[in-house]
Amino acid sequence: MRIPRLLFVALSLLLAGFTGARGATVCVKAARMIDGRSGQTVGPVVVVLDGERIGRVLLGPQVSQAPQDARTIDLGDATLLPGLIDCHTHLSTEPGQTVADKVKLTPARAAIRAVNHARATLEAGFTTVRDVGGYELVDVALRNAINAGEVPGPRMQVAVFALSITGGHGDPNNEFPYFDHFGGMNGVADGPEEVRKKVRFDIQQGADVIKFMATGGVLSTGDSPGAEQFSFEEMQVAVDEARRAGRFTAAHAHGTQGILDAVRAGVRSIEHCSYLTPEIARLMKQKGTWDVPTRYVPESLLVPGNPMHLTADRLAKARDVAQHTSESFKVALREGVNIAFGTDAGVFPHGTQAREFAIYVRDGMTPMQAIQTATGRAAGMIGWQDQVGTIEPGRYADLIAVAGDPLKDITELERVKWVMKGGAVFKDQQGK
Ligand SMILES: [Zn+2]
Repeated sequence: MRIPRLLFVALSLLLAGFTGARGATVCVKAARMIDGRSGQTVGPVVVVLDGERIGRVLLGPQVSQAPQDARTIDLGDATLLPGLIDCHTHLSTEPGQTVADKVKLTPARAAIRAVNHARATLEAGFTTVRDVGGYELVDVALRNAINAGEVPGPRMQVAVFALSITGGHGDPNNEFPYFDHFGGMNGVADGPEEVRKKVRFDIQQGADVIKFMATGGVLSTGDSPGAEQFSFEEMQVAVDEARRAGRFTAAHAHGTQGILDAVRAGVRSIEHCSYLTPEIARLMKQKGTWDVPTRYVPESLLVPGNPMHLTADRLAKARDVAQHTSESFKVALREGVNIAFGTDAGVFPHGTQAREFAIYVRDGMTPMQAIQTATGRAAGMIGWQDQVGTIEPGRYADLIAVAGDPLKDITELERVKWVMKGGAVFKDQQGK
């Protein structure tokens, strides 16, 4: 019994470190700031904290008004930004899992890995994520542990089980004959009444957002990304049931018909949105539907040498999606569709998702627009615009810093040097 006790003491001391000391006012000073809302870089800046929130933001000559007795964190010639938001992660998921790995995986093992994924994500500068499909309530447990200050990680909105048709993108039994099917719960639901029941179940178990698979996907056996899966009627029920419980709905949709029906059904966001047409983009703009484009994930699957050991079938699907997703992104941008940053981290290693930014810029966004998709705009999409996403009084003190100017080199966001969440510093690599 002695070792666990010692471990517990060590862990408690560690945790005491990152919850931070309370007392003196803390100020964060930097040469430049991108606040997540305005289109300008401003500076110098001093952000005066009020506990875990932002109290005041002092700009230019106002920085001399910073409280004299404050403890100041001087970030020097850095650019301060709001903590980043990834609207599409799977923190319960480990990249590159084989079928055999999945059969052997226990919820306990997945949860321990997820703790590391959460820390990697936070240290990469992502202080908020919307986690759109978990595994055996690992997402709920992780969210609650982070909120309780037990482990470091981003603020999370979680989806519990992503809903899927039998044989669809989210059916864990696709790879097995029926007599070897997993027992227990999953997100499979067929017909409006089963969909309704599964949405209610997810909410009962702790879902903040409802996710469903409107079309097939890349990393599922026996389906096609282009093919619609849920019917329009089933999607309508999912959206309606989630709405009455005060939850937004996210639809995984690659193919055109699935995107169209999910938009018509009233979802908050289309995930992937790979085969988009100008007509549907205009409907999305009209209805205020968000596009979460996940541009980096097909590239991550198509790395030369196939390091993830994907089957030929999956590689072919990834290639086809990769060919269409760039044009779909440009259509969305041209038609003025709301775009929120999302990556599908978990398919590729957690903490590397900032590579998504450079792809947005390559395909036509300004660096400032790209940053806004992961800050103020993303916060609006997930309904947390009063909490996170901008550097303004009243928001959580979720701040990050990069060296230099990310508007000149957007890949600076892949090298976040300093991370604060809720007023506590979780990473400090200034000057490294
Ligand atoms: Zn996903």
